[in-house]
Amino acid sequence: MQLCPECKSDTVQRTSSTPLRVILCLILIFIIPFGLFFAWIPFVFPHTFECKNCGKQGNESELKQVDWREREMLLVNEKAFGNRLQPIMEYWFEQMGYLYKITMENHMFVLVKVSEQEVVAYHIHDLKDSNFLVQSLSGKLAVFTDTEFDWEPTSFGEKLFTSDEIQFIQNRDYSGLKDHLHKNTQLVQPFNVYEK
Ligand SMILES: [Zn+2]
Repeated sequence: MQLCPECKSDTVQRTSSTPLRVILCLILIFIIPFGLFFAWIPFVFPHTFECKNCGKQGNESELKQVDWREREMLLVNEKAFGNRLQPIMEYWFEQMGYLYKITMENHMFVLVKVSEQEVVAYHIHDLKDSNFLVQSLSGKLAVFTDTEFDWEPTSFGEKLFTSDEIQFIQNRDYSGLKDHLHKNTQLVQPFNVYEK
């Protein structure tokens, strides 16, 4: 079984086409003069994939190969990790002038970092003592788009926050958001965040 290297989902899809390579090969052999000598070229490029869960794209050589037993183990570990995160799920903390939200989306544990300038999502890999180990999510999972005129949540971003939270973020009202969280007792003790 092949799993996405980022979110460990098995919903990975090949994005490069084998029939297309065969057609290119046939064109080289029968249509292009001396193309026969180059007919192998379409087959040397590695196949690519896209993960339907987290949007990661890459070469198939990056996929994680596991058998069903390893897959079971991964699921058990993930469940145990989810139980550990449960008490702080959907809570926020402040660290080094950023606000962070601990949440879950697309079967992934997500940490979102909010400042007045940017909103960035990370995949949570581990939590030891008070240290989060995280990895930046691939570009397709942007949280907000900053256009010339507006600052809009993407469809992924919309799922990570409540509508109140989005309002504060859109107005770039960092202290307002902090007050709001404080009032709703949604702020917990700070954690350190280390990027993988
Ligand atoms: Zn993925």
